[in-house]
Amino acid sequence: MNNTILELFYVAAAAGFILALKWMSSPVTARRGVLAGEIGMLLAVVGTLLRHEVVTYEWIALAFIVGAAIGAPLAYLMPMTAVSQRTAVSQACGALASALIGTAEFYREVPSRGTMVALTLETLLGFLTVTASLVAFGKLQELLPSRPIVFKGQNFLNLSILALAVILGVMMILSPDQRWIFPIFAFVAVLFGILFIIPIGGADMPTVIALLNSYAGLSASAMGFALNNKLLIVAGALDGSSGFILSVIMCRAMNRSFTNVLFGAFGQLQTSAAQAEQRPYRSASPEEAAEILSNARSVIVIPGYGMAVAQAQHKLREMFDTLTKRGVDVRFAIHPVAGRMPGHMNVLLAEADIPYDKLIEMEEINSDFELTDVALVIGANDVVNPAARTDPNSPIAGMPILNADRSRTVMVIKRGMSPGFAGIDNDLYYMNKTLMLFGDAKSFLAGIVKELGAARA
Ligand code: NDP
Repeated sequence: MNNTILELFYVAAAAGFILALKWMSSPVTARRGVLAGEIGMLLAVVGTLLRHEVVTYEWIALAFIVGAAIGAPLAYLMPMTAVSQRTAVSQACGALASALIGTAEFYREVPSRGTMVALTLETLLGFLTVTASLVAFGKLQELLPSRPIVFKGQNFLNLSILALAVILGVMMILSPDQRWIFPIFAFVAVLFGILFIIPIGGADMPTVIALLNSYAGLSASAMGFALNNKLLIVAGALDGSSGFILSVIMCRAMNRSFTNVLFGAFGQLQTSAAQAEQRPYRSASPEEAAEILSNARSVIVIPGYGMAVAQAQHKLREMFDTLTKRGVDVRFAIHPVAGRMPGHMNVLLAEADIPYDKLIEMEEINSDFELTDVALVIGANDVVNPAARTDPNSPIAGMPILNADRSRTVMVIKRGMSPGFAGIDNDLYYMNKTLMLFGDAKSFLAGIVKELGAARA
């Protein structure tokens, strides 16, 4: 293919990626964003396949079939609550591809110094991202213990191993013909990936996955320099920077610093705190809950992970419609890390066609709770735990939370008294103004909707 046409394909693809990121930043334009990204990727793949440098198409076709056979069922069968794990697996695959291409390039011929810098970065970030992402997957899927694994001198050991990887990398750049260094360098990078992730607790995994996403992107960008492919440079840089920005946003949402996430061993107190003493609490039936809701003037719904597990968003929409028709002001408070992936609640509520203007971000809605009659918490726990504000020793101390406890009445739908993701007890459940509504979120909401309908008839 003519090089100018290829450049045009690549420019159009890069524009698609940039528009995708822009449009995906709002639920109103998110679908358009996904489509722009897909078209961009299609143009990138077609453009690259039509390049005259492709030696044989058979292997590519085979890889396409194998990839599609794994990817399509993965996309359809993986529940949305497991998106973090799925992202970790995809990242591991992307990083492995990048690391293996870097390895192949290194062994193909003795690279120039400039290419060697790119290859070293590509393989370092690639290999460490593979193992770190796989361990992150294991922790999130609970195949591995999600608590932090810590030992004395850990940070020193980790930094020493990283330093060793950097020294070996510099040696490779200075003497690319010393091929024996590469396997040791790759092994050290793989080892660092594991050691870097094991002290990080499950609750910090989403932030770390966003950071690993950034590493995978930077690795791809470095690969672009090594292969002299401008689109890879651009796409990798976009991936790298957006992953980094996302991890910063998530750190802010949890009031954590990067160093604290990476070296703080968050979540260590989980098990001891989870076994708290029995305390009295009040519970209510769907009938009582329906009555309280229909007598309220303002209700703020706080959805969380449990709503996602129960797939309760459609029943929630029915409750929203019924209450709104009765003149109750119902809004939805969105915590940035509610659920198990950034934007999780927005996606589910949008799927149930709840109007976007009723979804209010935490900073905007938090001051309204004091004037609100009912805070209805649906399968959320950590994001409404007042311990974040009041207990400096809590593992979630300092994390901004939704001020549900400041509303006049609090109702919490969940199946029992079990803790949430951070594994800690929640004082909100024991407050005098709180009513526990025990049951699966979807069934309980169905009960409320039925009672609301019966009361009207
Ligand atoms: P939590 O995980 O804190 O709590 C969820 C609650 O839902 C549980 O206490 C559980 O209680 C309840 N629940 C589970 N299943 C059901 C069901 N079928 N019906 C009703 N309730 C149910 O969720 P939050 O959304 O409050 O907080 C998110 C947590 O996840 C934070 O700690 C965050 O840091 C972390 N995280 C966030 C990610 C993100 O990017 N958003 C990614 C990964 C982790 P019970 O068992 O008693 O029903």
